[in-house]
Amino acid sequence: MRKICKCEFLSLTLQRKNKETVESTDNIKSAGLKVTPQRKVVYEAMMELRHAPIDEIIKCVQAKDSEITVSTIYRILDSFCKANLLSHVFNPGVGKSYYDITVKEHHHVFEGEHIMDYMDEGLSELIRQYLKNKNFASVDIDKIQVQITINKNKVKQ
Ligand SMILES: [Zn+2]
Repeated sequence: MRKICKCEFLSLTLQRKNKETVESTDNIKSAGLKVTPQRKVVYEAMMELRHAPIDEIIKCVQAKDSEITVSTIYRILDSFCKANLLSHVFNPGVGKSYYDITVKEHHHVFEGEHIMDYMDEGLSELIRQYLKNKNFASVDIDKIQVQITINKNKVKQ
């Protein structure tokens, strides 16, 4: 029996698939890259995974299209990062770098191996203001990323 990867399971509804296809084509195009079938598969895998290490992406992409080689996947991910279609986040829970589908400034909550996005413009602004009054007054801060790690051993009863 063939194992179903997490991203396949998540994309079972046809409606969602159609939306993703349109969205992936649009996003790849607007990043200034040529839309190829391989790029679409890799981007759609990332849309489903949200945050994933390279091995998980390879598994997911090859479950969709086994013809896409590992070196092609690496090449595509690299071009996506350069085109600002993907960002990176380090997951301290597993000690690995993850690709992240969200490029806009955002924060992360880590719980064991899991990464969740935490969008909070107020928090970013607060830190920006704080830093402006400190030693960072003269520099232009590009991105602020707060990492919140949940202590699983101390979850309230
Ligand atoms: Zn993220």
